[in-house]
Amino acid sequence: MSTRRWSASGRAFAHIAKFHPEITAFRRDLHVHPELGFEEVYTSARVQEALRACGVDEIHAGIGKTGVVGVIRGRSTASGRMLGLRADMDALPMREENECEWRSSKPGLMHGCGHDGHTAMLVGAARYLAETRDFDGTAVLIFQPGEEGFAGARVMIEDGLFDRFPVDAVFAMHNWPNMPAGTVGINRGAMMAAADRFTIEVIGKGGHGAHAYQTVDPIVVSAQIISAVQTIVSRNVRPIDAAVISICAIQAGDLGAMSVVPGKAQMVGTIRTFSSRVQAQVEQRLSELCSAVAAGFNATAKVSFERIYPATINTAPEAMFAADVAQSLVGVHNVDRNMEPSMGAEDFSFMLQKKAGAYLRIGQDARDGAYLHNSRYDFNDDILPLGAALHAGLIEQGMQLASSPARQTAVASAVG
Ligand SMILES: [Zn+2]
Ligand SMILES: [Zn+2]
Repeated sequence: MSTRRWSASGRAFAHIAKFHPEITAFRRDLHVHPELGFEEVYTSARVQEALRACGVDEIHAGIGKTGVVGVIRGRSTASGRMLGLRADMDALPMREENECEWRSSKPGLMHGCGHDGHTAMLVGAARYLAETRDFDGTAVLIFQPGEEGFAGARVMIEDGLFDRFPVDAVFAMHNWPNMPAGTVGINRGAMMAAADRFTIEVIGKGGHGAHAYQTVDPIVVSAQIISAVQTIVSRNVRPIDAAVISICAIQAGDLGAMSVVPGKAQMVGTIRTFSSRVQAQVEQRLSELCSAVAAGFNATAKVSFERIYPATINTAPEAMFAADVAQSLVGVHNVDRNMEPSMGAEDFSFMLQKKAGAYLRIGQDARDGAYLHNSRYDFNDDILPLGAALHAGLIEQGMQLASSPARQTAVASAVG
């Protein structure tokens, strides 16, 4: 473990720091046992066991297949308020190259995105909240499966998550190796982009490479399409709007057949946007360009889209509230309230489509420059108590007891 160069204040942080070794052991155990989306059987069982040991009021398993929800009621529930906290639990299909004791025990599976840490931080918050209960309302702790491409958040919602637990707002955080440990980043709007997948199939007419005039060469047509598509972002999307179109795979012909012009070519790529208006514009232009370019060469092009994740858009009041909570822990200089959005995507977006709330980034320092999804990435256990205290602060400060120290200070300063 590295030497900590930052600090955090507050009662929750000090309390949680006392069981830092236990949360660390929990996190490392999850790291040893990575599981893919909807296969988090071990993880889900470990979470339930930990929640039981914490003494939470209710544990609901099997929401969205392997999802788990823990419910903790405050010392009072007179406010009728209910807030949700979400952690993702799944790992990635990649080989770990770390050599630490807690490296993956499963070949080809790895916690390369730190969801082991997210789960441990929320379990840490559960323990603190169940022990102290210094809030007026109900805390709903959501342990979600399948964030890495499986839309686990949507599956939990479709399985009745918010019907059974009608939270007023929901919060989530992701570790960010590009930010120093002890810092938090957020903004009042878009945090992550929408991710679409598209495929283009160019159908021509195959034939002999020596008599190419008798063919409709889909490779030549594809080359024109690839060039033309670059103009969508540069010449159709407004420069103040953001969009990315990347063709990431192309396949045509056979590398063993140097004189065979193939009959078709296929491409696959992704579109990233923040607004549904730009998303629709890009999809429309991509379809139009592919069809028109192909028609110009007597070929045809079929374009299809799959909208994977919507954009992750914070609601402004909840985002600024979360920034205030973070500030109470790490101070004003360690909270970036105008964090740049990322063109990556996140399925917490489905929850933010239904509920007010916010998605935060929590800095963790990259070890040896290993960022998310790198085979040498690992979650930084140093930040576990900070993440847990941040979760706890959202509950305590979002549903304050009439007699809470924070409320008394506010009242005193208002009176004074
Ligand atoms: Zn990831
Ligand atoms: Zn992730």
